[in-house]
Amino acid sequence: MIWIGDVLVSHGEGGVYSERMLGNARVWDPFRSKLAALYHKGTGVEITAETRVLYLGAANGTTVSHVADYADVVYAVEFAPRPMQDLLEVARRRRNIVPVMADATRPEQYAPLVESVDLIYQDVAQPDQAMIAIRNSVFLRDGGHLILMLKTRSVDVRKEPDIVFQETVDALISAGFVVQESLWLVPYHQDHAAIICTKPEV
Ligand code: SAM
Repeated sequence: MIWIGDVLVSHGEGGVYSERMLGNARVWDPFRSKLAALYHKGTGVEITAETRVLYLGAANGTTVSHVADYADVVYAVEFAPRPMQDLLEVARRRRNIVPVMADATRPEQYAPLVESVDLIYQDVAQPDQAMIAIRNSVFLRDGGHLILMLKTRSVDVRKEPDIVFQETVDALISAGFVVQESLWLVPYHQDHAAIICTKPEV
């Protein structure tokens, strides 16, 4: 990842969401993006010009745009029409974003559009976040990585966040993932944890 001092940046055309510029670099703000928060707090996964990414929960494309500055290609899945309009505009200005309007719980809907990827990044704030990741792992190459941004309150508001966190980790391990890193994203994002896994080589 690219740092200027302690500021995480990406190199690409600015003006996507009024992000701050540092010279000609786009500042990737950890308070606005959970993925940027992960790079500030933990290790995460290095994204390079060879990395193919499946991004679940693209919203209006702000974090997608930074990922695309680093990656080879980003398949950006979003099911809500309003953010999709903004995402289409972001994709129009970047050659390596493939916007996919689909439900991430139904990967068979977009299987014909998506190739094998090196990284799945998921940020969907749904009750069944582990299951969505597991279903989409069909697209992940052996040895590839999953970054799951877990919003514990979306899974079950009545349960202790730590329990939801542990149950999600357990579900991913049962599905064959190897957990590499897991951490809470405070102070950048409340009630959010990042779980980083590897899909073992067979
Ligand atoms: N990752 C975004 C960012 O950093 O800019 C923010 C994502 S926002 C927290 C969650 C997004 O996931 C929303 O735009 C929502 O519409 C989308 N979403 C939720 N469930 C989904 C599903 N099953 N399929 C596709 N998109 C979904």
